[in-house]
Amino acid sequence: MIALYFHIPYCLRKCRYCDFCSVTVDETANRYCDALARELSLRAEQYPMERTATVFFGGGTPTVLPSDALCRVLDQANRYFPFEKNAEISIECNPKTASQKELADLRRGGFNRLSIGLQSTSDRLLKRIGRVHSYNDFLQTFSFAHESGFGNINVDLMHGLPGQTAEDYLSSIENVIALSPEHISAYSLILEEDTPLFDDVANGIEKLPEEDAVADMQDAGIDLLESNGYRRYEVSNFAKAGYECQHNLTYWNNAPYLGFGAAAHSSMSENGKWYRFSNQASIQAYLRKVDHGKVPEAERILINTFEQMFETIMLGLRKTEGISYESFQKRFGCDVREIYPEAIDKNRRNGLWDERNPEFLRLNRRGMDLLNSVLCDFQERNYWDLLRP
Ligand code: SF4
Repeated sequence: MIALYFHIPYCLRKCRYCDFCSVTVDETANRYCDALARELSLRAEQYPMERTATVFFGGGTPTVLPSDALCRVLDQANRYFPFEKNAEISIECNPKTASQKELADLRRGGFNRLSIGLQSTSDRLLKRIGRVHSYNDFLQTFSFAHESGFGNINVDLMHGLPGQTAEDYLSSIENVIALSPEHISAYSLILEEDTPLFDDVANGIEKLPEEDAVADMQDAGIDLLESNGYRRYEVSNFAKAGYECQHNLTYWNNAPYLGFGAAAHSSMSENGKWYRFSNQASIQAYLRKVDHGKVPEAERILINTFEQMFETIMLGLRKTEGISYESFQKRFGCDVREIYPEAIDKNRRNGLWDERNPEFLRLNRRGMDLLNSVLCDFQERNYWDLLRP
C-alpha cells in the first residue's frame, strides 16, 4: 500500500517567506495536468499492482488550476494505482483561489479532505507576509467548503511572524477553534534564504520576534489547542480524535510514497532495496521529459539499512506517539534499544523520554522541544561494530 503526492507548483502570487517550488501561475499551467496524467501511466509501468491508501494534492496552490482538470488527474490516479475504500484524498487550497462551485466539483470528484492555508486571522500580519487573501476571504472559503460537503478540514496557522505578538497568535487559534475544523496545523515560520522576507530581516527592514517569545507563543498555542480537544499528534499538528492526517503519517512512519509533478519526491522499496528519488525541479524540464514519454526523474539514491533506521527515528520521533519497538523490530529485524543504546540512555538521563507506555520510544513535551539535539545524538551512532562478524 502506498501514498500518492501530486505537486502543483503554481500560486496566485509568491508569499514573502516562501521558498517552496512554486511560481506565479503562467501558461505552462494549461499543460501541467495532462503531464501529471502521462506521468501516472509511466510510473504505473514501473510500479504495477500498487494500491493507494492516501492521496495528497499539495503545492503551491493546487486550487489555482481548474477543478475539472484536477479531478481528471485524480481519476487517472485511481485507474493506475487503485484507491482503497475510504482512502483519504486531500487537496490544499488557499482562500481566494476556489469558488463554491469549484469546491463542490472537487468534493464530487472524490476529494474528501481540504487543507486551507490561512496562517493568521490578522489582516495586518497577512499583508506583512505577502499573503494574497484576507481573514474574510478565509471565512468565505471555509463556509463554501462546509456547504460543499467537506467534513474533514485542516487549517494552517503560523507563529513567529514579523510583528506578531502572543496575543495575535492566540487570537488566531481562538478564531479558528470557534469554526471547529477537524484538524489544525500550527507551524513556526522558518526564515529561508533567498526570500524577500529574509532580505528584509537581513537589511533591518523587518524584525522577527525573539526566539524565547516564539517558544512561549508555541507553548501557549499548544496548551490552547489541547484544552479545546485538538490532540497534538506531531510536532506541529493537532487533530480531533480520528482526524489525524493519514497521508502525513505515511511520511512520519517512513512508509512508501510516490510523488508526481515538478520537484516531487518519492520514497519506494524495489526488490528489497529502498530508494529515494526526485523529479525535475524546473517545470519546463519536467514537461519536456514527460512530453517525450520519459519518467521525469532527476535524481535517485539508494538508502542503506542504517540510513533507513536513522530516518525512521528522525521522522518517528516527530510523532507524540513515538516509535513502536515492535514495528522497528519487524522492519529491521533488531531492537531499536540495541542499535542506539547511548543516545537513548543519554536522553533518559536528560529526562526527555515519556516512558509511560513501555511499547513505544517517545519524547515528552520537553523532548519534542529539543528534538534536533536529540536527533544529533542518534546521528552520532557509528554502525561499524554492527557490521563486524
Ligand atoms: S501560497 Fe504557499 S506555496 Fe504559494 S507562495 Fe504562499 S507559502 Fe508559497
